[in-house]
Amino acid sequence: MPAIKFRGVDFIGFDTLLSDDERLVRDTARKFIEDNLIPIIEECNRAGRFPRELVKPMAELGFFGANLKGYGCAGMSNVEYGLVTQELERGDSGVRSFVSVQSALVMYPIYTFGSDEQKNTWLPALQSGDKLGCFGLTEPDFGSNPGGMRTRAKKVGKDYVLNGEKMWITSGTIADVAVIWAKVEDEGDKVRGFLVETDRPGFKADDIHGKWSLRASVTSGLSLQDVRVPESNLLPGSGGLKSPLMCLNQARYGIAWGAIGAAMSCYDCALQYSLLRKQFRDQPIASHQLVQEKLTWMINEITKAQLLILQVGRLKDAGKVEHQHISMAKRNNVWMALECARLSRDILGANGVADDYPIMRHLMNLESVKTYEGTHDIHTLIIGQSVTGIDAF
Ligand SMILES: Cc1cc2nc3c(=O)[nH]c(=O)nc-3n(C[C@H](O)[C@H](O)[C@H](O)COP(=O)(O)OP(=O)(O)OC[C@H]3O[C@@H](n4cnc5c(N)ncnc54)[C@H](O)[C@@H]3O)c2cc1C
Repeated sequence: MPAIKFRGVDFIGFDTLLSDDERLVRDTARKFIEDNLIPIIEECNRAGRFPRELVKPMAELGFFGANLKGYGCAGMSNVEYGLVTQELERGDSGVRSFVSVQSALVMYPIYTFGSDEQKNTWLPALQSGDKLGCFGLTEPDFGSNPGGMRTRAKKVGKDYVLNGEKMWITSGTIADVAVIWAKVEDEGDKVRGFLVETDRPGFKADDIHGKWSLRASVTSGLSLQDVRVPESNLLPGSGGLKSPLMCLNQARYGIAWGAIGAAMSCYDCALQYSLLRKQFRDQPIASHQLVQEKLTWMINEITKAQLLILQVGRLKDAGKVEHQHISMAKRNNVWMALECARLSRDILGANGVADDYPIMRHLMNLESVKTYEGTHDIHTLIIGQSVTGIDAF
């Protein structure tokens, strides 16, 4: 079977809904992924290796903090930024996760809640990839319910002293700075964000091994034992659980685009394979009705997902997006992508479980994407709350 090369997926002239600039950004990101990530990603996935050599080239293309303005950031629209994450995840969800964390979970909170000094110190260095960041919200006992967190910050003189454990933290061991969310004891346990340089005494990060998912992304546990930071490391504009949730909304928006990329990769691979692979009467398997039904389901759902996220992106660019809109796009598009990965894996038969093809890797990656940044079911409750006005958490 010849190697299958991605051809793009567009059933209803979706491209005509994009501006020239948007298409240019998408095509640039697509070429970068094709030339630089596709040739190495299966090796990275097997080895459980994050392709760190791509950090600088991605920074040069403006992928970090792409939709922020100033500080060397590309100042892309939200739709352009989304198209970048789509292409990144067409390559690999782990690499897209790295970019989402650096951009939406580290640069965004500094940009939104940080002091001028914090912005000037960190944003240019994070944009250029000279410094890497991570976002510590989840704890071993608090995932979907981060409000229960045990991590505490206590004011001691002109410093804060932080204690706690964070778990499942993307880029934890490669980060220079961690955005740590903690309850501040002297402020009635209000949740606030702190910038913690990872070389401070008492800060420890260890990789989580044995993951069957996002193998090309670093995932770590963090431990903070009496970590002392100056009060200037507090993100002054942060206050309450709303602050980390605002960051998650930014990341979820990128994920909703990204999942379409993974779905496109699986669908296009399965479609091309089905036209080449012959079974029964020397006919391609694409000629069988049951195979066509699977392909139809996929292109149908990918097309609906594209339209949903484009509208959410247009609302975001107009300053009118609501968090429940982003929840719907994340919930639908990741579910859709996971179903596409399962159907595509099936169409490839035994070849579907091998890493000669990208499908099984996407399938395993998407299991994490379904869980992180608010699980599928948590987004169900967010939408339910929005339409009924009743909190069912
Ligand atoms: C690879 C990876 C990378 C990650 N990166 C980061 C990161 O960089 N930073 C970070 O802070 N976190 C990160 N996370 C953590 C992620 O955000 C959490 O895993 C997620 O919030 C879910 O929490 P949990 O795993 O504790 O599951 P739980 O909250 O224990 O949920 C388990 C199950 O119970 C369900 N459930 C929970 N509450 C309810 C309810 N009220 N009603 C109905 N069902 C419910 C959930 O939907 C789920 O199915 C990462 C996770 C993974 C897997």
